[in-house]
Amino acid sequence: MNLIAMTNSPRVIFASGALSQVADEIALLNKKRVLLISDESAAKHAARLQSELGSLVIQSVSHVVMHVPDEFSSLIASAARQEQIDLVLTIGGGSATGLGKIIALDCAIDLMAIPTTYAGSEMTSIWGRTSNNQKTTGRSAAVLPKTTIYDPELTLSLPYSISVNSGMNAIAHAVEALYAPEVTPEIKQAALEGITIFTSGLRGIRENINNLSSRTDLLRGSMLCGFSLNNATMGIHHKICHTLGGMFDLPHAPMHSAVLPWAVQYNQGFATTQLNEVAEVLSARSAAQGLWDLAKEVGAQTSLKEIGYPIERTEEVADVISSAKYVNPRPFDKDGIMELLSNANTGSRPDDES
Ligand code: NAD
Repeated sequence: MNLIAMTNSPRVIFASGALSQVADEIALLNKKRVLLISDESAAKHAARLQSELGSLVIQSVSHVVMHVPDEFSSLIASAARQEQIDLVLTIGGGSATGLGKIIALDCAIDLMAIPTTYAGSEMTSIWGRTSNNQKTTGRSAAVLPKTTIYDPELTLSLPYSISVNSGMNAIAHAVEALYAPEVTPEIKQAALEGITIFTSGLRGIRENINNLSSRTDLLRGSMLCGFSLNNATMGIHHKICHTLGGMFDLPHAPMHSAVLPWAVQYNQGFATTQLNEVAEVLSARSAAQGLWDLAKEVGAQTSLKEIGYPIERTEEVADVISSAKYVNPRPFDKDGIMELLSNANTGSRPDDES
């Protein structure tokens, strides 16, 4: 038998009110000593978990730092070792999940994640950490949560602007998965469905931010987009965002939203079939225009200038990116990347010819 595809995923529980199933899921994993990590926004849910899990919770952390600085995670990891923790349980956005992943990796213990944003990290074996202001990322099966619990009710409190930018960030995972070399029919289906239901969910919360059905669509979309990210190599869009994030510490999700239409435009003509499929689900003339129009329509970020990108350093950025190894439909070329960054900086709409 030839193995032609292998996809990885945590065990996923997806239901409104699923927070009440955490104790049962921990019992299923036979874990006895839990480290509970929550971000500030999840304080109320963490208190509920603490009371429901009782003596299972041995250690808790109620503050997280974006991009997981080593000096922060190492203190938590050493306490977790001392307490012989056997499960990290996270509740919060991608930053809380990210911290949980590093503890799971450094302490060789399992992770259970309860996401409250649309970052998608809870579906991936990708970790990220920062040492001496340098962010590194990698992949390890050790950080893929054993169980991920999605409860759309937890996302009702997510402010509108974080929701829409986080949503565009998730769509970027699906778009790049479609033109990745490893794409399989399953990944393609997940990615296209992810983009489709994200689009309707984003339009839904623009009408009514408390619409649980739209929130459910968005969370399901983030699961599908996260699944796509986990099972495919990302291309130029992610390379650019990783570079800009590392060099200038730009806000993660708005930066993805501003870069995506122009990264897609860069690949136009090199991944024609895949990008036509994206255009079709967006009912647009081109994928780049459809993504830009969607971002504008829902009020997500379309301009790097507005989030503090220093345009005068574009040549330096393009040098870093064009000298990197890449997996991308169109080869990396410095002039093309400079043009892409300049367009994403002003936030103009990709036209049919550019
Ligand atoms: P975040 O976790 O930093 O959260 C953003 C803000 O939203 C925070 O202030 C948080 O407290 C608040 N928040 C979260 N949930 C809320 C809710 N339901 N209601 C109200 N406020 C809420 O941001 P993020 O975009 O979720 O995650 C970004 C991080 O995730 C980055 O470090 C990024 O690199 C990482 N990430 C990793 C992967 C991966 O596969 N490893 C994938 C995507 C993102």
